[in-house]
Amino acid sequence: MMHKWLNEQQRSLSSLLKQNRVPHAFIISGADGTGKLLLAQWLIGILACEKNGFQEDNVYPNEILQQCGECKSCQLLKGHGHPDHLVVDTSGNSIGVDQIRQVTTFFEKTALLGRNQSAIIEAADTMTESAANALLKTLEEPTANSHIILLTTEISRLLPTIISRCRQISIRATDQELNNNIAINYVTTFASLKTENVNGDTALLNEFMLLFYQFLANPEERSRLLLFMQTHTQSLNWCEGLIADLMRYNQGWLNNNENTAIDQQILARLQHLTHDDIWQVQLLISACKKQILLLTQANRNFQIEKLLAQMTFYLIQAYAVDR
Ligand SMILES: [Zn+2]
Repeated sequence: MMHKWLNEQQRSLSSLLKQNRVPHAFIISGADGTGKLLLAQWLIGILACEKNGFQEDNVYPNEILQQCGECKSCQLLKGHGHPDHLVVDTSGNSIGVDQIRQVTTFFEKTALLGRNQSAIIEAADTMTESAANALLKTLEEPTANSHIILLTTEISRLLPTIISRCRQISIRATDQELNNNIAINYVTTFASLKTENVNGDTALLNEFMLLFYQFLANPEERSRLLLFMQTHTQSLNWCEGLIADLMRYNQGWLNNNENTAIDQQILARLQHLTHDDIWQVQLLISACKKQILLLTQANRNFQIEKLLAQMTFYLIQAYAVDR
């Protein structure tokens, strides 16, 4: 189901679709849970639909275009097997040049169904420098009727040359909107991470989740977490999802279900943290992520060590306040 706060973007995109002026490349940015992928899939769906009608003088009654849901293209998209739509595998720590070459090759082929070709690249900010440069070439020389949609939580981490070649869509939902949505849907970050990481990373995530929450509960013991985070750079991104889950849990929006079999003692301890405490930890993590962007591996390891030391310092103080 489409989030209400996306309607405005859908309206302006619908207008572009009707005028046949859809840009070749987009960057959709927004925090986790704001529906970046939903919006991208909606756009792709309309571009692919054989009965979308926007190219004919078909008068659509609604401002927001919809797929017919019945044509061959719509059916193929529903089954995740549309030959002219590519979803780049972004389950690894970073998006490498090979994954981007896959995109380039894909667009070099002609569309099998004779309509638009499209690709979605999630977590585009995890592209390596060489991957970003390879993508730049594709963006500079677009093939006809092709559309690339990059998704990111932090647009500032993308190369300015990439940003300048894409139409930017920034999704902002108010906290209230997001909270309502979270409360209604009960989708845990963990569950969504699990589905995104279908390539055997689930065990890794599980391990990280336990280590991370253990550390938050006992911040003086950080050596195992440190080692894990230094060997799995992607884990820094996972932190934010887990922090978000912790906030929801502490506010009673999440159950500790069987998927997140965290020790009850740890959970009891974590409930001592206030919303503000957790938020401060979150700020430390995002500051560290920004720092790490341009660093070499050796400096990254140091930054992660520094982050955990800062978190320890903060958390010990937080627990010391008797509540
Ligand atoms: Zn259709």
